[in-house]
Amino acid sequence: MIDGTDKTKNKDKENFYEYTKKESYQQEKVENENMEIEKELYTEHNKEYDIEHDIVVIGAGPAGMAAAISAFDNNVKDVVIIEREEKPGGILKQCIHNGFGLHKLGRELTGPEYAAYYEKMVNERNIKIYCGTMVIDITKNKIITVQNKDGIFKIKAKALILAMGCRERSRGALNIPGTRPSGIFSAGTAQKLINCKGYSVGKKVVILGSGDIGLIMARRLSLEGAKVEAVCEIMPYSVGLKRNITQCLKDFNIPLYLSTTVAEIHGSGRLEGVTIAKVDENRNIIEETKKYIPCDTLLLSVGLIPENELTKNAGISIDNFTNGAIVDENRQTEQSGIFACGNVLQVHDLVDYVSDEAEIAGKGAADYVLNKLNGQIIIKTVPGNGVRYVLPQRINLIYEYNKNREDYKREISLFFRVTKPFGKIKYTVKLGDKVLNTAIRLKASPGEMEKITIKANDLEKISNKDEKITVNLEELS
Ligand SMILES: Cc1cc2nc3c(=O)[nH]c(=O)nc-3n(C[C@H](O)[C@H](O)[C@H](O)COP(=O)(O)OP(=O)(O)OC[C@H]3O[C@@H](n4cnc5c(N)ncnc54)[C@H](O)[C@@H]3O)c2cc1C
Repeated sequence: MIDGTDKTKNKDKENFYEYTKKESYQQEKVENENMEIEKELYTEHNKEYDIEHDIVVIGAGPAGMAAAISAFDNNVKDVVIIEREEKPGGILKQCIHNGFGLHKLGRELTGPEYAAYYEKMVNERNIKIYCGTMVIDITKNKIITVQNKDGIFKIKAKALILAMGCRERSRGALNIPGTRPSGIFSAGTAQKLINCKGYSVGKKVVILGSGDIGLIMARRLSLEGAKVEAVCEIMPYSVGLKRNITQCLKDFNIPLYLSTTVAEIHGSGRLEGVTIAKVDENRNIIEETKKYIPCDTLLLSVGLIPENELTKNAGISIDNFTNGAIVDENRQTEQSGIFACGNVLQVHDLVDYVSDEAEIAGKGAADYVLNKLNGQIIIKTVPGNGVRYVLPQRINLIYEYNKNREDYKREISLFFRVTKPFGKIKYTVKLGDKVLNTAIRLKASPGEMEKITIKANDLEKISNKDEKITVNLEELS
């Protein structure tokens, strides 16, 4: 990892740009040709698949790249990444604002810089990224069907890491009444059009949804000279990071209307305005609060959906709260040898935690290939009072404990989100009646992921194998 000194900072920054200019992305063509050659080599011997690799990672976003690096560094060298877009980096390519890497790298980078940092590490290890290649199917047996300009290939993996990220919820999912004019964008699409393609999307803007993407786009559009009339949030609180509310709304005098939604869309051809309205506690529109705002652009920032179609097709169980796979502490799904990490597993607020989670999945996949994953008892984790979900949803235990084992000494982190904003609170993690850990926080918000650790050796001598680990929240003030 890099250290945080200014000198290193500048040097690293120079390296990013140098690297992006000189080397980055130039190998794609060659790599796709390599895939064709690999196919020819393998098809002579094997009918079921064309190519074989120890570990295949789907998605070259921050999760996929960190997972591949971790797998490689944990002694499995035959790792490849499949990416449907023409360049690696995932969503970070369009996030030109800073705020990435504070926790992980001790500095604030832009999205492309953070991605370039990981891409450099991928290339240093000679891990191939097959860009312009879409995974169209995966099976329980870890055979992946991919398609690119050269045709369709089947790849057999010993372990598979799912890192496909997520997509945005669209207008169709919201059922907002009104006409169908142009000028309505999902926030991420607008971000891509402005930051990557150089288009202006509009001049008078209303944003629905105060998650981080909506907040960041409010600032971005203001910087581009647009007038952001309002950010409307249907919940009585924002799920965005506190720092984004200050830096993206307050600093630009953009009003945030809580418990408010877009009740109607007006305009033919181009959007002419929206009617906003307050909602009651059941999210029903309060008619007398309706207010018309003239605008030519509406951005929808109303949630992200993990891209789990491939996961579901492979018969992997999905958690109803995270909309991602059910995983254990190694991020292994219920299908042995298939791992998941990043936004496809749970929507993250910070990329730093995406990278942390991906490192766990990468190590897990490497250990699986090296036959080092051998848990025998599964303990489930469940959300208690005030907690929406807990991840991992299950923990593997070795039945016979050997106190010298690395496994015995390890710490396991539980990640979770609270159901609503709280003031001072206490978290208690219990296995049955036994308290495993507690933590006090001065506040908590559903927009910010929480973490608490437990020790594997505290799970020893579990009396009842049906006992569950519960994370509970208690309000202190
Ligand atoms: C607008 C916005 C602003 C953000 N701001 C911040 C911020 O300020 N600070 C911060 O820390 N974090 C921020 N984040 C969050 C952070 O960017 C994400 O958490 C992170 O990018 C998720 O990484 P990922 O690798 O899981 O997914 P992604 O980055 O989405 O990458 C997934 C990759 O998988 C590929 N893929 C998907 N399906 C297939 C397939 N079938 N075949 C092949 N490839 C496939 C996709 O093309 C993509 O490249 C922001 C996110 C957004 C959207």
